[in-house]
Amino acid sequence: MAEQLQPSVIVDAAAGATAPRASVLVIYTGGTVGMSVNKRGELVPMKFGQIQKKMPELRQLGMQVSVLSLPEPIDSSNVTPTEWLQLAAILQQHYDAYDGFVVLHGTDTMAYSAAALSYLLENLGKPVIFTGAQVPVGRIRTDARRNLVTALEIAAARHPRAGTVRVPEVCVFFNDVLIRGTRAKKVESQHYSAFRSENYPPLARAGIELEFDDNLLRLLPAGPLRVHPHLEDRVVVLKLFPGITEHMVRAILGAADLRGCVLETYGSGNAPTSPWFLQCLREATERGVYVLNVSQCEEGRVIQGRYETSAHLTELGVIGGEDITTEAAITKLMYVLGLGRDAETTRRLLLSDLRGEISVSQAAGTSIRF
Ligand code: ASP
Repeated sequence: MAEQLQPSVIVDAAAGATAPRASVLVIYTGGTVGMSVNKRGELVPMKFGQIQKKMPELRQLGMQVSVLSLPEPIDSSNVTPTEWLQLAAILQQHYDAYDGFVVLHGTDTMAYSAAALSYLLENLGKPVIFTGAQVPVGRIRTDARRNLVTALEIAAARHPRAGTVRVPEVCVFFNDVLIRGTRAKKVESQHYSAFRSENYPPLARAGIELEFDDNLLRLLPAGPLRVHPHLEDRVVVLKLFPGITEHMVRAILGAADLRGCVLETYGSGNAPTSPWFLQCLREATERGVYVLNVSQCEEGRVIQGRYETSAHLTELGVIGGEDITTEAAITKLMYVLGLGRDAETTRRLLLSDLRGEISVSQAAGTSIRF
């Protein structure tokens, strides 16, 4: 489908400029940013043309902005791995023609999409900035203008002295923070600050000035872009809670075609020690299901073996997810299992820091520096 989608230039403030100006491709997928009210009073996505009319200020950016709109813009609650693979294919197709990319996306699943694209785009050397809005662009108190304008500036940003790409990674920009794609979490549905960077500082802050933290940003990759074409969707998130029954755990972990499970545990990775729970886990891992242990806590990390209630997990083959978010963990499972590697390599990749989703842990010593 990516072959049929062609961008159109909407702002050409670079035309006639003496110095070369940045060119950025905006990929519009839908979301509140471009929604209007239907006859029943519900918010539904609209075509991009209406957004563009409401943002004449884009001209003042002095760059060339092109737009490619998905044929049917969607509410991001309808996003699936199919859309992620489609987005990756679009980015691959237009990679050489632009300095940077902005993905306009609904906020509900933006953190999942940004993480998924982080994995699919290996050796990314240009910015791919996800943004959206809490209030549609047509409303007077919209945050769409500010978010889109700043995301465009970030997508075009260069190091002041070296002139090289400043943000060669997939990120979420929202309200006033730039967040690594594998660290983003939607934390707010009522206020403008919808996203938080979890277990890692923001990569930039947008106040009066745009302040990048170059010590945190990724360096340019050594090799060329590699776009991965597969994601394994036979995966699940199992969130523990006091009182979860054997019947329910069995129904999930016993699903015949299950390949991977993010197990959301308590605290630093602790889980019940009841024999039936351990038996369910053992049967799953022995069948070849990869179980990734992720904490329900918003801060901190999984340290299997700190308590008796997590020591048994390592023995059962459960993989400690360290300080990864659930969003990054489930998309990492999809990506790594989609690579179709042997069991040992798969486990090693799941334990490793692939796209900045895990902070190096002195305690575990398993992570590879990003
Ligand atoms: N339901 C919307 C979406 O995720 C919410 C938003 O964009 O803020 O598409």
